[in-house]
Amino acid sequence: MRALVWNGPGALALETRPEPEPAPGEVLLKVLTVGICGSEVEGYLGESAIRKPPLIMGHECAGEVVAVGEDVTGVAPGERVSLNPLLSCGRCPRCREGQQQQCPERQLVGAQRPGAFAEYVAVPAENVYVLPPGTSEVAGAVTEPLACCIHAVDRSGIGIGGRAAVIGFGSLGVLLTQALQWAGVEEIVVVEPDAGRRAIAQGFGATAALDPAAAAEAGGALDVAFDTVGKGVTRALSVDLLRTGGSAVLLGLHDAGFPIDGNAFLRRELTMISSYAYNRTSFARAVDVLPRVGLDGWITFGGLEDGPSSFKTLIEDPTGPPKIMMRP
Ligand SMILES: [Zn+2]
Ligand SMILES: [Zn+2]
Repeated sequence: MRALVWNGPGALALETRPEPEPAPGEVLLKVLTVGICGSEVEGYLGESAIRKPPLIMGHECAGEVVAVGEDVTGVAPGERVSLNPLLSCGRCPRCREGQQQQCPERQLVGAQRPGAFAEYVAVPAENVYVLPPGTSEVAGAVTEPLACCIHAVDRSGIGIGGRAAVIGFGSLGVLLTQALQWAGVEEIVVVEPDAGRRAIAQGFGATAALDPAAAAEAGGALDVAFDTVGKGVTRALSVDLLRTGGSAVLLGLHDAGFPIDGNAFLRRELTMISSYAYNRTSFARAVDVLPRVGLDGWITFGGLEDGPSSFKTLIEDPTGPPKIMMRP
C-alpha cells in the first residue's frame, strides 16, 4: 500500500509498505479521509516526545471496514466508521473510572503504533464507531478534535447563559465554538490575530471576534476562557479575560511555560483547568452530534502525495484554512 512515512525532522515521503493484517480483536480500515493534526505538525518538526521515526502518523480518521480479525463482533465489513485513536488498557483504576485519557498505558494510533496516513490501518474493533446515517466521512474525520472540545466544555462546567472566550480559531477553535453554542453558552468571544479567520468565526456562532490586543484591552468579564493555542502569551491571556472567580481551561499544547501572576490569580479566586484529549464517553457523544457539525470554509483536501507540501503549508501559512485532510 501507499503510506506517508515520517523519517525524521522535516522528512516526509510517500513510500510503499506492506498492507497491515488485523490481529485478533482488530479491524482493517480502508482510510477514506484523514486530517492533519497540529500535534503532527509538531511531530514532523521533531518536537513531539511520543513520535519516533520512522512512523506513519495520522489519527483523525474516518474509514471503511474491509476486514475483521478473529473474535470481532459488532462491526462488519462495508461499514463506515470513525476511529477513536486513543487506546487504553481497560483495567487500571483510571480506565475503570472512565478516564481512559489518563491511563498510564495509553497509546495513540499514529504515534506509538502505525497510523492512518496510508491506504489501510489496523485498529482495535472497540475503537471504531459506526457513523450516524447520512454523515459524511469528512465529518467522521473531525470526530477526534471535536471530542477534545466536548471534553473541554464538560471540564469547564459552563452551560446555558454562560460567557466564554475561545482563544485561537484554528481547527479546535472552530469546533469548540460550535460545542459551546450547542451547550447553550450565550456569549462566545473568539480571540484570533488573523482577520480572515475572525471573519469565519461569526458564521460558526461567535458573538464577537477580536484581535488579541483588542481582547486584552476589553479586559476580564468572562466566566470561562479556553486556550486552544498553548503558547505562554495565550495562556496568560486566558487568565486576563476572566471575571473574578472565573476559570481558564487549557487544551492547546505548545510551549511548556506558564507565565501567570500567582498573587493576582489567588486574589481573584480563579480556577485553572487542564483538558487533555477525551474519554470514551465524550468520543461517543462527538460521534452522535456529527450530523450537526459545520464543515464549510475551514477544511481543504488533498491526496497522500500532497502530504509533504501540506505540512509545509501548515507551517509557513498560519492564516489559511486551518485543517488539511487527505483522501488516500
Ligand atoms: Zn489530533
Ligand atoms: Zn488503563
